[in-house]
Amino acid sequence: MPVQAGGGVAAPIPFIDLATQRQRLGRRIDEAILRVVDHGGFIMGPEVRQLEADLGAFCGARHVVSCASGTDALALVLMARGVRAGDAVLCPSFTFASTAEVVAWVGATPVFVDVDGETFNMDPESLNAAMDTAARAGLTPVAVIAVDLFGQPANYEALEAICGRHGVWLLADAAQSFGATCGQRRVGTIGTATSTSFFPAKPLGCYGDGGAVFTDDDELAAVLRSLRVHGQGTDKYDNVRIGINGRLDTIQAAVLIEKLKIFPDEIAARQQVAARYSAALADVAAVPKVLEGASSVWAQYTLRVPGGRRDALAARLKAEAIPTAVYYPKPLHRQTAYRNFPVAGGDLPVSDRLAAEVISLPMHPYLAPDVQDRIIESVRRSLAPV
Ligand SMILES: *Cc1c(COP(=O)(O)O)cnc(C)c1O
Repeated sequence: MPVQAGGGVAAPIPFIDLATQRQRLGRRIDEAILRVVDHGGFIMGPEVRQLEADLGAFCGARHVVSCASGTDALALVLMARGVRAGDAVLCPSFTFASTAEVVAWVGATPVFVDVDGETFNMDPESLNAAMDTAARAGLTPVAVIAVDLFGQPANYEALEAICGRHGVWLLADAAQSFGATCGQRRVGTIGTATSTSFFPAKPLGCYGDGGAVFTDDDELAAVLRSLRVHGQGTDKYDNVRIGINGRLDTIQAAVLIEKLKIFPDEIAARQQVAARYSAALADVAAVPKVLEGASSVWAQYTLRVPGGRRDALAARLKAEAIPTAVYYPKPLHRQTAYRNFPVAGGDLPVSDRLAAEVISLPMHPYLAPDVQDRIIESVRRSLAPV
C-alpha cells in the first residue's frame, strides 16, 4: 500500500464512487431491477416509457428517444437526417472517438475543429475555418456536432450563429453534460437534436450501456423511434427504412429512473466539489473556466499543467494513492484511424497543446471534504513545493 509523506498509510481514493451512491439509494435500485426480472418485459418494457417521460420532464425536451448507447444516439441522428458520402460533419478533435466515428459510419467525412484552451469546447473561429476547409476538400458541410466536454455546454450562442449563416444543422453531443444549463436553456433542448450517454462513469450513468436522443422535432423523433428498431413501420413486419437494433434495456431504464430522482442533488454536490477545487488550486494550476451564464455538471474536473509537468504530477499523486486520468492524451486527428480526415486550417494547435497539459482529478458527488483536502494538498505540494 502506498505510503504518505508523513509515514502513514493512505487509503486509496476512488476516481469516481458508485459504491457510495448505491449505498445511499439503499434497496431501491435492487428492487427496481427485480421488478423487471419479475414482470419479464426486458425489451421496451414499461420502465423505458417511464424513463423517457421522466427525462423529458427533467430537461424540457418535447421528445426523448432512449437507445443502447451514447454512440448509437449520435449515429441515429445522422441516419435520421440522411447524412451520407460527400457530406462533411464538423466536430472537435479533442473529444472521445464516438463523436467522429459515427460520421464515418454513415459514409460522410468528419472535419476536425479546434477547441478553446480555457473551456475545452469548440472554438467558433476554428469552426468558421473548418467550413472553408470542408468546401475546399470538395465536401458539402451539412452539420456540426458540438461536444460539451467535461460537463460544460459548448458556446452555443456563437456556434448557432455560424450554423445559421452556413445553413447547417447542429447536433449537441451531451454525453458528458446532461443536467447542465446554457443561459436559460437546459441541455437536451439545444440544437436540432441532443444526444447523451448513460455509460456508468457519466454524470447520470446506468449499470451498463445506455443513451438517449432529445429533440423538439416531431418528425425527427418518429424517424428515430423507427430507426431504433430496425427501421420498423406501423406494420412491424414491414420495415420502411434501414435501421439498427438500438433499444435501451428495460433493466437499465429501471436503474436510471431511481438515479434520476437524486440527480439534481448530485449535480449540486459536484458543483460544490468543483468550486472547492478551484478556490484551492487556482494559484498553482490553470483551473477550468465556466462561461458566464452557463453551468457544468463536472463529468470531469480538469486542470491544465503546462511546461511538461503534467506527467510528474500524475506520478506523484499515484504514489500517494490518488488516481488521476488524462482526457485525452491524443486528439482524434492524431489517431491512426482518423489522421487522414481534414483538419480546420490544416492545424489544431490548441487540441495538441491540451493533450499534453490536461489532467483530471477525482470527481464525484460523494467526495468528502477531508478526502478532497488530501488531494488538494498533494497537488499543491507537487506544483508549488515549499
Ligand atoms: C462517452 C461519450 C460518448 C459515447 O457514449 P457511449 O454511451 O459510451 O457510447 C460520446 N461522446 C462523448 C463526448 C463521450 O464522452
